[in-house]
Amino acid sequence: MAKACIGIDLGGTFIKFALLDEQLSIQAQLQAPTPADGGPDAVIEAMAAGAKQLLEQQGMSTDQVLGVGIGSPGPLDLENGIVIGTPNIPGFQNLPIRDRLSQALDLPAELENDANAAALGEFLLGRGKHLQNMVLLTLGTGIGSGIVVEGRLIHGAHGIGAECGHMIVQPGGELCGCGQRGCLERYASATYLAQHARRLVEVDHRPSSLAEVLRKNGDIDARDIQAARRAGDPLAEEVWDRATLYLAIGCVSLCRVFDPDLIVLSGGLTNAGSDLTQPLMQHFRRQHWTLAEPRTDIVLSALGNDVGVIGAACVALQKFRK
Ligand SMILES: [Zn+2]
Repeated sequence: MAKACIGIDLGGTFIKFALLDEQLSIQAQLQAPTPADGGPDAVIEAMAAGAKQLLEQQGMSTDQVLGVGIGSPGPLDLENGIVIGTPNIPGFQNLPIRDRLSQALDLPAELENDANAAALGEFLLGRGKHLQNMVLLTLGTGIGSGIVVEGRLIHGAHGIGAECGHMIVQPGGELCGCGQRGCLERYASATYLAQHARRLVEVDHRPSSLAEVLRKNGDIDARDIQAARRAGDPLAEEVWDRATLYLAIGCVSLCRVFDPDLIVLSGGLTNAGSDLTQPLMQHFRRQHWTLAEPRTDIVLSALGNDVGVIGAACVALQKFRK
C-alpha cells in the first residue's frame, strides 16, 4: 500500500486522529478525550496511543507512515516545534511537542497552528480545491484563521501571522484576552456573541425571551440566540445583526488585503447555516467598496468538524511527501 500520514488535532476537550493516504483519501479516523488534568506527559502519551491504535485498526506498521502532523492551539514556535502556551491545557508551557511525539512514535512529526492546519485541509480537500487563494475563519470560542495565498499557507515573519480574529474592528472596544481592544473575535465569535446577549439581558435588563432561557439554563449560547431570532425576538435580532456586521467588516478587510477566491467559515457558529450566511452576505455587500462588484464568495466549510484533523494530516503530507 502507498505510504500514509497521520493527522492529530489537539483540542482542550478531545484529541482527533485521522489517517490519510498519499492521494489525500481518508482511510480512518478516531477521537479520544484530552487528559488535560494529567499534564503534558499524559497528553503526549494519549496522542501516541491514539496514533498507534489508528495504525493497528488498519493493520499497518509505522514503516508505512511518512509522518505525523500536529494541529495545536497556540501560540507556537513553529520552527522548533514548541507549544509556547495554551490556555485550555494546563502545564503546556514551552513544550517541545513535535520532538516528544516524534520520539514516542519513532516517526517524523511537524507542528502547525490548528487554524492554519484547518485552512490547509479545506484548501486541499474542501472548498479550496482547484483554487489558489482562500481564507478560513473558525468561529467558536474565539476566531481562528488560516490564509492561503497563491497555494501556500502564510505564517509571517515571526510565525504568528494570519490571526484574523485579532484584527481590530472597533477602536477602544471590548478588551480581548490578547491584550488589544476591539478585536474581531470579541464581536463575532460564538462565545462573545452569546456573552453580549447575556449582558444586555442581565445587566441592562433589556426585555427579551432570552431572559427566560437564562433563568432556565443558567446561560445563553449562540443556538439560543439563533432560535430566539427566528421566533422574532428583537433583542436576538439586534445581537445577531451586530455580530454579522462586524464579521462582514472583517471579511471586507480580508478582501482588500488578500483578494481571496473564497472566505470559508467553520466552527460552532456555522451550525446556524443560512441564518449566518444570509445576513453576513447582506452586510458584506453593503460594506464592500463600490469600485467593483464583490468577487469573493463567503461559504461554509465542506469538511465540517473534521477540517482540523484532516488538515493536520495534510500538514504532514506536504512536509514529508517527496
Ligand atoms: Zn485579540
